[in-house]
Amino acid sequence: PPQRRFDSLAAVKDSPLRLDGEQRVDLGEIFGENTFSLSSMQARLPKPTYKALLKTINEHTPLDPSVADAVASAMKDWAIERGATHFTHWFQPLTGLTAEKHDSFLSPTGDGRAIAEFTGTELVQGEPDASSFPSGGLRATFEARGYTAWDPTSPAFLMEGPGGAYLCIPTAFASWTGDALDQKTPLLRSIQALNTQATRALALFGSPAPRVRATLGPEQEFFLIDEEFAYRRPDLVVAGRTLFGAKPPRGQEMDDHYFGSIPERILDCMNDVEVELYRLGVPLKTRHNEVAPGQYEMAPIYEDANIAADHQQLTMSTLRRVARRYGLLCLLHEKPFAGVNGSGKHLNWSFSTDSANLLEPGTNPHENMQFLFFCSAVLRAVERHQDLLRVSIAHAGNDHRLGANEAPPSIISVFLGDQLTDIFEQIEKAGTAETSKEGGLLGLGVDALPRLPRHAGDRNRTSPFAFTGNKFEFRALGSSQSISFPATVLNTIVAEAIDEMVTNLESRTADGVEIGEALRALLSEEVPKFKRIIFNGDGYSDEWVEEAERRGLLNLRSTLDALPSLVESKNAELFEKYSVLSRRELESRHEIMVEQYFMTINIEGETAADMARTMILPAASRYLSDLLQCMERADDVGIKVAGVEATARAVAEAVDGLVEALDHLVKQNAELGGEEVHDKAEHMRANIIPAMNAVRERGDELEKMVPDDLWPVPTYRDMLFVK
Ligand code: ADP
Ligand code: MG
Repeated sequence: PPQRRFDSLAAVKDSPLRLDGEQRVDLGEIFGENTFSLSSMQARLPKPTYKALLKTINEHTPLDPSVADAVASAMKDWAIERGATHFTHWFQPLTGLTAEKHDSFLSPTGDGRAIAEFTGTELVQGEPDASSFPSGGLRATFEARGYTAWDPTSPAFLMEGPGGAYLCIPTAFASWTGDALDQKTPLLRSIQALNTQATRALALFGSPAPRVRATLGPEQEFFLIDEEFAYRRPDLVVAGRTLFGAKPPRGQEMDDHYFGSIPERILDCMNDVEVELYRLGVPLKTRHNEVAPGQYEMAPIYEDANIAADHQQLTMSTLRRVARRYGLLCLLHEKPFAGVNGSGKHLNWSFSTDSANLLEPGTNPHENMQFLFFCSAVLRAVERHQDLLRVSIAHAGNDHRLGANEAPPSIISVFLGDQLTDIFEQIEKAGTAETSKEGGLLGLGVDALPRLPRHAGDRNRTSPFAFTGNKFEFRALGSSQSISFPATVLNTIVAEAIDEMVTNLESRTADGVEIGEALRALLSEEVPKFKRIIFNGDGYSDEWVEEAERRGLLNLRSTLDALPSLVESKNAELFEKYSVLSRRELESRHEIMVEQYFMTINIEGETAADMARTMILPAASRYLSDLLQCMERADDVGIKVAGVEATARAVAEAVDGLVEALDHLVKQNAELGGEEVHDKAEHMRANIIPAMNAVRERGDELEKMVPDDLWPVPTYRDMLFVK
């Protein structure tokens, strides 16, 4: 019944949910309490066992089975003391989400009783039923099995709920043929590749380090919408975004939301999210309102890439889960509301030794030499592999944002800032004949060094990839996506650039050239090759699109434009060379990405048709019927209702338009464009998206005509402005 909408408005207003004082927490006490951390391991394990485990964690040495047994037993005790009854291998299949299959610790003793047991074998390897996870042809459906393998470098943790607690063990997920079926495996391999090449470089520079680690700090944007509204919208429930909805009268022009105070219920919810995540050892640091009404952001302090990626998945799932306690639905979709700012994810990325961030400009000439080397390696890598960075953020949801004047364009470029750009220009000039006498210009290895900018403010928010003083910020990620693949790409392409540049330097120094001089010479050759990727101007402008084309930069506008480059031989060889993904693994990923694009739009197309047929059309016909009744009665008593008649005609016309567009969409939905997933995906782009847009246009037109009390779904105004 129509009056439901008013019920839900009341429900929002009277929402009883509040945190009580009990939630006051001591951060120092709760942080990490639900993780089986190094300190809890140290406290519970015999010294030699702990040492062996530490060696595995730090140096990736194989784990001794007896060590695994001891760790499993300590882990089980720790979990059971906290009320856990089950354990699960927690992994990240290529759906972008996380997966788990629970096993209880229960082990019957044969006399009608049972004890809790957890062996090293159970810790180290699991065998989930893998048949329902995407494998991109790597695993024939009859071979349903896959296996999970413990990742000792990411701490196990306890998930608690009203229904009990269970132990989660971070794991990698592979097919029985040994092919990676998850996000974690290639990420770990890419971290290793970067480590190998960066430590090689440091040794050459005379500052050897035992290891170099990639670091990640992801900023997460999301919407929180009252679930009273959200659950009345099949599109939000099924597709995570609205497929209909006229633009609200008051949009994000109202800037007061951004950095304004956070509404109380939302704040309570965010607090609760944070407390849960603190318990899980996720170091959340900032929270604030975002640009759009109903939109917020949270960001952690950066961590080692592998742990940061696990923590990012936990952040997304905790947001979704906790929001419901507050009667809210957390929307992580890139574009839940048309005409309203979408949601992205900024991936801050760098790499460091145990003591120094290698993308931090130095305070002395030697450090600056290293910095310029590593910074150049990043520029070189991004220039050469624009296509891979673009693919790493390509999915149906992100197509609504990229290049849509609110998000970075689909052209990959690097913002460096004026000072640093100037330095690279000087390096380039210094390499040319006229100025080569000033070989010491940049002062590499010389005391008279221009100071490099430290933490130069980056006020340019339009660049997809920006240097922000001591790290790069990859800003084009979609809010819903896993950060693992973009990070994997960054680590791998930069490992390659470092590798090739170090090899070049090695051959120069072998000829007796001093390292500073060798680097100067190398950079003056490199800068001209990569400088076209540097762009400090307005990335949202049309001029940039033209300029980028003149520079020959790629502009892969949509997901299906971008995906083919993933499997080009340049990229397959790169991933193979650094043992990050085999060709088979890469091809399977490509297949899965195409399939997910198809499935996403396919669901949207079906849902849009359903809503138009079963919600919008009936509402419009009811209204038309009201109008016609009114005209009939008016006629009975001899009153002229020309306005009503005109309205009836307009509504009838709009309904005709809707039905026509709907018929077309239904016809397109019935066709799949072929048997091959690539053909189906192409059908989605070429036919379903335009058909869906046409239906939406008609539906939104009707929303502005049909009386508010007859409109069957919550409007943008309801969802975005009632808090
Ligand atoms: P700003 O955006 O103002 O520069 P911060 O410097 O605090 O803000 O960083 C924003 C995000 O970048 C945070 O999530 C932070 O943890 C992350 N970050 C900072 N330093 C690094 C680093 N070395 N590696 C990866 N991420 C980092
Ligand atoms: Mg940022």
